[in-house]
Amino acid sequence: MELLSDQLDAFDAFAALLLRWNADRTNLTRIVAPREVAVLHFLDSLSLIKFGDIDRCANVVDIGTGAGFPGIVLKIMRPTLPVVLIDSTNKKLNFCRAVITELGLTNIEVLHVRAEAKHGTPNVLGNFDLVTARAVAALDKLVPWCLPYLSPAGKIVAMKGSAAGDEIRAAEPLSRKLGLVIRKSPAFQLPEATELTTRHLVTIKRAGIKSSV
Ligand code: SAM
Repeated sequence: MELLSDQLDAFDAFAALLLRWNADRTNLTRIVAPREVAVLHFLDSLSLIKFGDIDRCANVVDIGTGAGFPGIVLKIMRPTLPVVLIDSTNKKLNFCRAVITELGLTNIEVLHVRAEAKHGTPNVLGNFDLVTARAVAALDKLVPWCLPYLSPAGKIVAMKGSAAGDEIRAAEPLSRKLGLVIRKSPAFQLPEATELTTRHLVTIKRAGIKSSV
């Protein structure tokens, strides 16, 4: 994957803001070494582009985005892709708003709402080709939170670690009841990471509907 120089500049500015806000006022991340931010936040989020087959998706919602992972990373890489960031913690969204302003990102919306409080988000329900989430909740909890946002032929992609298989087994009865199929990507590793980083993308789609993404 090639990054353009303005994308590299955007990641530099994003990392600088993250570390400054984290040190000054807001607990955004436990990862503070610049190299680790690059690998464990940026590169991990980029795996959604490399392995998640997202380029046919017309739009994306990132549930529990926190400091903007993976949503802001996707936006930097795909500037015309409409992105919505959802989180229940407004101080984290204030950081996302600051990044959006600083980087001049457009067509990106921030919603302060609990994902499961669907009544708070009428315009976004049933609208998204890609509903994604990283490090938010186990699948049996996460899938019902994400499902109301999914377009009929869209997909949920949950970014998971080595517990993905166990989480899928726990979520399978509910998924069957909801008419969903779950697939786990082969494991991949983040390069140069200093901690255990087995990763999987878990894709959830409606059974019996030909997915457009
Ligand atoms: N996705 C980011 C990442 O990977 O760095 C943040 C992960 S952080 C561990 C989990 C985030 O999910 C927090 O920002 C939290 O506020 C948010 N969250 C937890 N439950 C939520 C809910 N029900 N609705 C929306 N956001 C939620």
